[in-house]
Amino acid sequence: MRDLHALIIGAGIGGLTAALALQRSGYRVSVYEQVARLGEIGAGVTITPNACHVLNHLLGTELVEHICHVPQSGAVKHYRTGETLVDTDRGDLPRQKYGANYCQVHRADLHAALASAVAANDPECIHVDAAFMALAESDSGIAASFTNGQQATGDILIGCDGIRSEVRRNLWGADEPRFTGYIAWRGLVPTAKLDAAYLHPDSAAFAGPGRTFTRYKVRRGELYNFVAFSSRQQWEAESWSERAAIPELLAEFVDFAPEVQAILQAVPADQCFKWGLFDRPPLTQWTKGRATLLGDASHPMTPFLAQGAAMAIEDGMVLARAVSAAADWPEALTRYENARRERGTFVMLQSHVNARRIYSRDPDSLNRNSHRNAESLGLYEYNPLTVSV
Ligand SMILES: Cc1cc2nc3c(=O)[nH]c(=O)nc-3n(C[C@H](O)[C@H](O)[C@H](O)COP(=O)(O)OP(=O)(O)OC[C@H]3O[C@@H](n4cnc5c(N)ncnc54)[C@H](O)[C@@H]3O)c2cc1C
Repeated sequence: MRDLHALIIGAGIGGLTAALALQRSGYRVSVYEQVARLGEIGAGVTITPNACHVLNHLLGTELVEHICHVPQSGAVKHYRTGETLVDTDRGDLPRQKYGANYCQVHRADLHAALASAVAANDPECIHVDAAFMALAESDSGIAASFTNGQQATGDILIGCDGIRSEVRRNLWGADEPRFTGYIAWRGLVPTAKLDAAYLHPDSAAFAGPGRTFTRYKVRRGELYNFVAFSSRQQWEAESWSERAAIPELLAEFVDFAPEVQAILQAVPADQCFKWGLFDRPPLTQWTKGRATLLGDASHPMTPFLAQGAAMAIEDGMVLARAVSAAADWPEALTRYENARRERGTFVMLQSHVNARRIYSRDPDSLNRNSHRNAESLGLYEYNPLTVSV
């Protein structure tokens, strides 16, 4: 097993975490990414304690604290009045309770930190402009072929290629992602453009009828990230995300509090994207032979528990631990799937439940007792560094 060579398809947050965790355990890794230039789109991502354990371990606490912003306080507010309905524990409390921070980060900063760490371990590891097409397995290994004509061989192959996973299609056949009826706008606003009076507490979610608006700081507080959710009968755009028309966004949230209006009015037109939210049915098996799935490729989820990236990060760490603990590759992939499939599927399904709850709730009766999030489901208590594999 010391000589094991892992092929990773997709250099998103999941693929890079898996690559780094495997490298740290001493394994040879090759990552194949379809885009010509590595990078992530501008948007924020919440890193809850369950995922923060992994980033601290792989990147070092100092770097994680440098790129991530720890909100000192948080709240769920009434969409129209801005009145605080629920206070959420932030600052040092999550670290004291779970051993790692609840924090928020610009996706590009997290992605760059992971990619640099992987490249520092092995400058030849990441191959760009390599879109995976097909796999073929033999007794001695697994071969991947790419649309650019390239071929690669290894001992195991991990499909980390997101919700439209080509690896998943190769393993389990075509099941097209379905539009969930939910849409999201995501954007970044320079904090300097906003009136400080509107920015308390550090992070806030505004609960409205059939719509929510969340804002939080990234990049050491220089930028405010916002995510605004609503719904549509259909997603008509060809792509899953498109540059947003700001007037449509303003009209959708016209009845929200002045602080929401202020953020929407300040968003630069090239910093706002509109997304159709898609999902796929849960898989009853991830692994076939020498290949398995990780992150959105295995459990694509709606963002209503803010756990998609967190689950991909957890998967990557547990995969590396399963490989280290196993005597051979079949045992490694079995240990990985056994440790992860139930949790990935549970969080994916609970994210749907939370979406239905959020979309049907009456903001006027929301309070601490009726509020549910990933923490109230106990998800922060999981530690991928110590969980049994
Ligand atoms: C509006 C919104 C808000 C969200 N907020 C949060 C949040 O606050 N917290 C959180 O934890 N999660 C959040 N998520 C979810 C999170 O973004 C995803 O779950 C996470 O990015 C999944 O990571 P991944 O690496 O599995 O897949 P991806 O990030 O999709 O990466 C897949 C990679 O594979 C590459 N690829 C695809 N096909 C191929 C191919 N054929 N060959 C080679 N490479 C390929 C892609 O180019 C990409 O680089 C949010 C999602 C949305 C839509």
